[in-house]
Amino acid sequence: MALIVQKYGGTSVANPDRIANVANRVIQAWRDGHKMVVVLSAMAGETDRLIGLGKELAEDPDPRELDVLLATGEQVTVSLFSIFLRAQGVPATSLLSHQARIYTDRAYGRARILGIDTARIKEELKKNRVVTVAGFQGVDEVGNITTLGRGGSDTTAVAMAAALKADCCEIYTDVDGVYTADPRICPTARKLERITYDEMLEMASLGAKVLEIRSVGFARRYGVPLVVRSSFTKAPGTLVTVEDEEMEIVPVSGVALSRNDARVTITRVPDRPGIAVRLFRPVADANIVVDMIIQNTSIEGYTDLTFTVPQDDLKKTMELIRPVAAEVGAQQVVGDTNIAKISIVGVGMKNNAGVAARMFEALSGENINILMISTSEIKISCVIEDKYGELAVRVLHDAFDLGQPPPKR
Ligand code: ASP
Ligand code: MG
Repeated sequence: MALIVQKYGGTSVANPDRIANVANRVIQAWRDGHKMVVVLSAMAGETDRLIGLGKELAEDPDPRELDVLLATGEQVTVSLFSIFLRAQGVPATSLLSHQARIYTDRAYGRARILGIDTARIKEELKKNRVVTVAGFQGVDEVGNITTLGRGGSDTTAVAMAAALKADCCEIYTDVDGVYTADPRICPTARKLERITYDEMLEMASLGAKVLEIRSVGFARRYGVPLVVRSSFTKAPGTLVTVEDEEMEIVPVSGVALSRNDARVTITRVPDRPGIAVRLFRPVADANIVVDMIIQNTSIEGYTDLTFTVPQDDLKKTMELIRPVAAEVGAQQVVGDTNIAKISIVGVGMKNNAGVAARMFEALSGENINILMISTSEIKISCVIEDKYGELAVRVLHDAFDLGQPPPKR
């Protein structure tokens, strides 16, 4: 008998039929004797619909009130789910964030989970009840409703699994696992049996949308075994886990494309101590996450600085950078949204030489110009022109033979 946390995404609970369909999976597991905690997203499209409603009344809806609004999406699905379970004679209790005691900070729209008091949930489980928990939402210390950011239900599920020391956390979605590349872009993409937490973190941050990135960080930190699988099939899915030697044989496990970044270039920046901090401090204080940063070798006391931020933050970033750039005597600030970031990821990169050269060769074979490069131990990313993004995915997938299952040791 195991304690299992299952999470169902929006497409899996998009209508009453689908709710009944996935609830039957839960019932099966519960009848097999497992303790079941079910974290749910809002119905597909619902969160967007609610945001749209808010925006009809205000260009920039107040973040506190927007979170109160958005939290209703998950309230609907947990209650419907429990209504169905109860009608089937299965004892079930739905819990919203304050009832499930999911405590967060007060960063509306991007709140962080600080802790979960599991007493209530454990009580319900002890009574052999299925608990349905509203994903994506939390409460701050005085009871304000917060939300965790888009896709945040994954984080709710993993945090819940960690807090309950669950045996497994299963994330059910509309794809049957993690692929070597996005199958919609790359027809030869292959489902991975396993992927390491580190690789998954890179893939998630690079634009593979299967799992929300914070959930993977949580899973790694607390060693939560994570399975990604489809709610529409019985296929086994992909296990996200710690690495072992076999996973290091191949240099590259996957290719990811991100089209949500924008590039900011500041030209002729005086090369003196203290300039970089003056430029980046206001951006950091505005909670904008800067990704790649490249500074050139300076010529005659001046240098160029280029960095990337999420596209949604470009306007704000430009507003923050422009006055500082003028103050320090830089020449100009240019923003560019016409970029894509293409990345290859693999724990095996650590032990295989020539991976970068092979990547650059493959891109050059298609005449794709590389605008920026950055690397980590298990990742190489190139910023290229947006229009080449999808082609680059296919080219790199081929170049590293990702369509073939890796050799076994
Ligand atoms: N409903 C929220 C969203 O659409 C959270 C989630 O589905 O994970 O972003
Ligand atoms: Mg999701």
